[in-house]
Amino acid sequence: MSVSSTPAIRREDLAELNERFETASPEQILGWAVTTFPTDIILTCSFQHEGVVIAHMLRSIKPEIPVVFIDTRFHFKETLEYRDQVTNLLGLNLKIVESTVSFEDFKAKYGADLNQRDPDLCCKINKVDPLLSALKGVKAWINGRRRDQTAERSDIGFVDLQGPIVKINPLAAWHSKDTFRYLNAHNLPLNPLFDRGFTSIGCEPCTALPTDGDERSGRWAGSGKRECGIHTILDSSGESNGND
Ligand code: SF4
Repeated sequence: MSVSSTPAIRREDLAELNERFETASPEQILGWAVTTFPTDIILTCSFQHEGVVIAHMLRSIKPEIPVVFIDTRFHFKETLEYRDQVTNLLGLNLKIVESTVSFEDFKAKYGADLNQRDPDLCCKINKVDPLLSALKGVKAWINGRRRDQTAERSDIGFVDLQGPIVKINPLAAWHSKDTFRYLNAHNLPLNPLFDRGFTSIGCEPCTALPTDGDERSGRWAGSGKRECGIHTILDSSGESNGND
Protein backbone atom coordinates (compact mmCIF):
# COMPACT_ATOMS: atom_id res chain seq x y z
CA MET A 1 0.00 0.00 0.00
CA SER A 2 1.57 3.25 -1.07
CA VAL A 3 1.29 6.07 1.42
CA SER A 4 3.26 8.84 -0.24
CA SER A 5 5.68 9.44 -3.09
CA THR A 6 9.23 10.73 -2.82
CA PRO A 7 10.72 11.47 0.60
CA ALA A 8 11.37 15.15 1.25
CA ILE A 9 14.79 14.33 2.77
CA ARG A 10 17.42 12.47 0.78
CA ARG A 11 18.85 9.36 2.42
CA GLU A 12 22.38 10.66 1.77
CA ASP A 13 21.62 13.78 3.83
CA LEU A 14 20.61 11.86 6.94
CA ALA A 15 24.10 11.42 8.40
CA GLU A 16 24.87 15.14 8.43
CA LEU A 17 21.44 15.95 9.82
CA ASN A 18 21.71 13.39 12.60
CA GLU A 19 25.21 14.49 13.52
CA ARG A 20 23.93 18.06 13.89
CA PHE A 21 21.03 16.92 16.07
CA GLU A 22 23.27 14.99 18.51
CA THR A 23 23.79 18.29 20.34
CA ALA A 24 20.28 19.66 19.77
CA SER A 25 17.43 19.58 22.25
CA PRO A 26 14.20 17.77 21.41
CA GLU A 27 12.51 21.16 21.15
CA GLN A 28 15.10 22.31 18.60
CA ILE A 29 14.58 19.14 16.58
CA LEU A 30 10.84 19.69 16.68
CA GLY A 31 11.34 23.30 15.59
CA TRP A 32 13.33 22.09 12.59
CA ALA A 33 10.64 19.50 11.83
CA VAL A 34 7.70 21.89 11.72
CA THR A 35 9.70 24.46 9.74
CA THR A 36 10.80 21.85 7.21
CA PHE A 37 7.32 20.35 7.07
CA PRO A 38 4.80 23.15 7.68
CA THR A 39 2.03 20.81 6.52
CA ASP A 40 1.50 17.08 6.19
CA ILE A 41 3.19 16.34 9.51
CA ILE A 42 1.75 14.33 12.38
CA LEU A 43 2.63 13.08 15.84
CA THR A 44 1.62 9.57 16.81
CA CYS A 45 0.91 9.06 20.49
CA SER A 46 -0.03 5.91 22.38
CA PHE A 47 -0.43 7.85 25.64
CA GLN A 48 2.36 6.19 27.53
CA HIS A 49 4.92 8.87 28.40
CA GLU A 50 7.12 9.79 25.42
CA GLY A 51 4.29 10.95 23.18
CA VAL A 52 2.83 13.13 25.92
CA VAL A 53 6.21 14.79 26.44
CA ILE A 54 6.42 15.59 22.72
CA ALA A 55 2.81 16.78 22.58
CA HIS A 56 3.55 19.14 25.45
CA MET A 57 6.69 20.46 23.72
CA LEU A 58 4.72 21.03 20.52
CA ARG A 59 2.15 23.11 22.37
CA SER A 60 4.46 26.11 22.11
CA ILE A 61 5.85 25.15 18.69
CA LYS A 62 2.91 23.92 16.61
CA PRO A 63 -0.13 23.34 18.82
CA GLU A 64 -2.45 22.45 15.94
CA ILE A 65 -0.41 19.46 14.81
CA PRO A 66 -2.58 16.34 14.45
CA VAL A 67 -1.96 13.85 17.26
CA VAL A 68 -2.84 10.41 15.93
CA PHE A 69 -3.98 7.72 18.37
CA ILE A 70 -4.61 4.21 17.07
CA ASP A 71 -7.61 2.79 18.88
CA THR A 72 -7.04 -0.96 18.65
CA ARG A 73 -10.18 -1.68 20.71
CA PHE A 74 -7.90 -3.60 23.10
CA HIS A 75 -6.48 -0.73 25.12
CA PHE A 76 -6.57 -0.60 28.91
CA LYS A 77 -9.41 1.59 30.11
CA GLU A 78 -6.79 3.52 32.09
CA THR A 79 -5.02 4.44 28.86
CA LEU A 80 -8.24 5.68 27.25
CA GLU A 81 -9.07 7.74 30.33
CA TYR A 82 -5.54 9.13 30.40
CA ARG A 83 -5.76 9.95 26.68
CA ASP A 84 -8.89 12.00 27.28
CA GLN A 85 -7.41 13.69 30.35
CA VAL A 86 -4.25 14.75 28.50
CA THR A 87 -6.17 15.74 25.37
CA ASN A 88 -8.33 18.12 27.41
CA LEU A 89 -5.42 19.40 29.46
CA LEU A 90 -3.21 20.21 26.47
CA GLY A 91 -5.97 20.99 23.97
CA LEU A 92 -4.63 18.40 21.55
CA ASN A 93 -5.84 18.12 17.98
CA LEU A 94 -6.51 14.42 18.55
CA LYS A 95 -7.23 12.17 15.57
CA ILE A 96 -8.43 8.71 16.58
CA VAL A 97 -8.00 6.05 13.92
CA GLU A 98 -9.20 2.49 14.05
CA SER A 99 -9.67 -0.49 11.77
CA THR A 100 -12.23 -0.33 9.00
CA VAL A 101 -13.26 -3.81 10.18
CA SER A 102 -15.87 -3.29 12.88
CA PHE A 103 -15.07 -4.90 16.21
CA GLU A 104 -18.13 -7.13 15.87
CA ASP A 105 -17.01 -8.37 12.45
CA PHE A 106 -13.47 -8.80 13.72
CA LYS A 107 -14.58 -10.97 16.63
CA ALA A 108 -16.95 -12.98 14.45
CA LYS A 109 -14.34 -13.68 11.79
CA TYR A 110 -11.15 -14.07 13.84
CA GLY A 111 -12.24 -14.40 17.45
CA ALA A 112 -11.46 -11.88 20.18
CA ASP A 113 -8.38 -13.96 21.11
CA LEU A 114 -6.65 -13.64 17.75
CA ASN A 115 -3.77 -11.98 19.57
CA GLN A 116 -2.95 -15.34 21.19
CA ARG A 117 -3.04 -17.31 17.94
CA ASP A 118 -1.72 -14.84 15.39
CA PRO A 119 -0.56 -11.57 16.96
CA ASP A 120 0.97 -10.36 13.70
CA LEU A 121 -2.39 -10.59 11.95
CA CYS A 122 -4.14 -9.00 14.92
CA CYS A 123 -1.65 -6.12 14.89
CA LYS A 124 -2.00 -5.77 11.14
CA ILE A 125 -5.76 -5.39 11.31
CA ASN A 126 -5.94 -3.28 14.43
CA LYS A 127 -2.76 -1.20 14.38
CA VAL A 128 -0.82 -1.26 11.12
CA ASP A 129 -3.64 -0.89 8.61
CA PRO A 130 -5.29 1.98 10.53
CA LEU A 131 -1.95 3.76 10.73
CA LEU A 132 -1.26 3.26 7.03
CA SER A 133 -4.59 4.88 6.37
CA ALA A 134 -3.68 7.82 8.62
CA LEU A 135 -0.32 8.19 6.87
CA LYS A 136 -1.83 8.87 3.45
CA GLY A 137 -0.48 12.21 2.28
CA VAL A 138 1.79 12.53 5.32
CA LYS A 139 5.38 13.59 4.67
CA ALA A 140 6.75 13.65 8.20
CA TRP A 141 5.89 11.53 11.21
CA ILE A 142 7.01 12.52 14.71
CA ASN A 143 7.09 9.68 17.21
CA GLY A 144 8.47 8.88 20.64
CA ARG A 145 10.91 6.05 20.00
CA ARG A 146 14.06 6.01 22.15
CA ARG A 147 17.34 4.20 21.61
CA ASP A 148 17.36 2.68 25.07
CA GLN A 149 13.97 0.99 24.72
CA THR A 150 15.26 -2.14 22.99
CA ALA A 151 18.28 -3.49 21.19
CA GLU A 152 16.33 -3.14 17.93
CA ARG A 153 15.97 0.60 18.50
CA SER A 154 19.47 1.21 19.82
CA ASP A 155 20.76 2.85 16.65
CA ILE A 156 17.82 4.96 15.52
CA GLY A 157 18.65 8.45 14.36
CA PHE A 158 16.83 11.64 15.20
CA VAL A 159 15.67 11.62 11.61
CA ASP A 160 15.31 8.55 9.45
CA LEU A 161 13.29 7.34 6.53
CA GLN A 162 10.61 4.70 6.53
CA GLY A 163 9.82 4.29 2.90
CA PRO A 164 8.88 7.75 1.63
CA ILE A 165 8.05 9.11 5.08
CA VAL A 166 10.50 11.12 7.15
CA LYS A 167 10.47 9.77 10.68
CA ILE A 168 11.42 12.26 13.37
CA ASN A 169 12.50 10.82 16.71
CA PRO A 170 13.23 13.85 18.92
CA LEU A 171 13.64 11.73 22.07
CA ALA A 172 16.01 9.20 20.48
CA ALA A 173 18.80 10.05 22.92
CA TRP A 174 16.60 10.35 26.00
CA HIS A 175 16.28 7.70 28.66
CA SER A 176 13.05 6.60 30.25
CA LYS A 177 13.83 8.58 33.41
CA ASP A 178 14.19 11.76 31.34
CA THR A 179 10.60 11.50 30.15
CA PHE A 180 9.25 10.97 33.66
CA ARG A 181 11.38 13.84 34.91
CA TYR A 182 9.95 16.07 32.17
CA LEU A 183 6.35 15.11 33.02
CA ASN A 184 6.99 15.78 36.69
CA ALA A 185 8.72 19.11 36.03
CA HIS A 186 5.75 20.31 33.99
CA ASN A 187 3.10 18.97 36.38
CA LEU A 188 1.79 16.62 33.75
CA PRO A 189 -0.19 13.56 34.82
CA LEU A 190 1.14 10.06 34.33
CA ASN A 191 -0.61 7.05 32.85
CA PRO A 192 -1.61 5.32 36.12
CA LEU A 193 -0.47 1.95 34.80
CA PHE A 194 3.13 3.00 35.43
CA ASP A 195 2.34 3.11 39.15
CA ARG A 196 1.31 -0.55 38.88
CA GLY A 197 4.75 -1.52 37.61
CA PHE A 198 4.25 -1.54 33.87
CA THR A 199 7.20 -0.13 31.95
CA SER A 200 5.74 -0.23 28.43
CA ILE A 201 2.04 -0.14 27.71
CA GLY A 202 0.21 -1.41 24.68
CA CYS A 203 -2.99 -3.41 24.28
CA GLU A 204 -4.21 -5.01 27.49
CA PRO A 205 -4.12 -8.66 26.29
CA CYS A 206 -0.51 -8.26 25.11
CA THR A 207 0.93 -6.20 27.95
CA ALA A 208 2.37 -7.73 31.11
CA LEU A 209 4.71 -6.54 33.81
CA PRO A 210 8.33 -6.52 32.63
CA THR A 211 10.20 -9.78 33.03
CA ASP A 212 13.69 -8.29 33.04
CA GLY A 213 15.52 -4.99 32.63
CA ASP A 214 14.22 -4.57 29.08
CA GLU A 215 11.36 -2.11 29.48
CA ARG A 216 9.46 -3.69 26.57
CA SER A 217 9.88 -7.26 27.86
CA GLY A 218 6.26 -7.30 29.00
CA ARG A 219 5.01 -6.68 25.47
CA TRP A 220 3.93 -9.94 23.78
CA ALA A 221 5.89 -11.60 26.59
CA GLY A 222 7.19 -15.05 25.73
CA SER A 223 6.10 -14.88 22.09
CA GLY A 224 9.30 -13.60 20.53
CA LYS A 225 7.38 -10.73 18.95
CA ARG A 226 9.17 -7.41 19.44
CA GLU A 227 7.30 -4.86 17.38
CA CYS A 228 3.68 -4.40 16.40
CA GLY A 229 4.73 -3.47 12.89
CA ILE A 230 3.91 0.22 12.69
CA HIS A 231 7.59 1.13 12.78
CA THR A 232 8.67 -1.58 10.36
CA ILE A 233 5.85 -1.95 7.85
CA LEU A 234 7.15 0.25 5.07
CA ASP A 235 10.13 -0.77 3.03
CA SER A 236 12.30 1.64 1.08
CA SER A 237 9.84 1.80 -1.77
CA GLY A 238 7.00 2.83 0.46
CA GLU A 239 5.08 -0.36 -0.10
CA SER A 240 3.94 -2.80 2.53
CA ASN A 241 6.94 -5.03 3.29
CA GLY A 242 5.11 -8.28 3.34
CA ASN A 243 3.95 -8.36 6.93
CA ASP A 244 0.48 -8.45 5.54
S1 SF4 B 1 -0.93 -5.60 20.54
FE1 SF4 B 1 -2.09 -7.53 20.82
S2 SF4 B 1 -4.28 -6.99 20.98
FE2 SF4 B 1 -3.13 -5.19 20.19
S3 SF4 B 1 -3.35 -5.33 18.01
FE3 SF4 B 1 -1.42 -6.35 18.50
S4 SF4 B 1 -1.89 -8.53 18.84
FE4 SF4 B 1 -3.85 -7.37 18.82
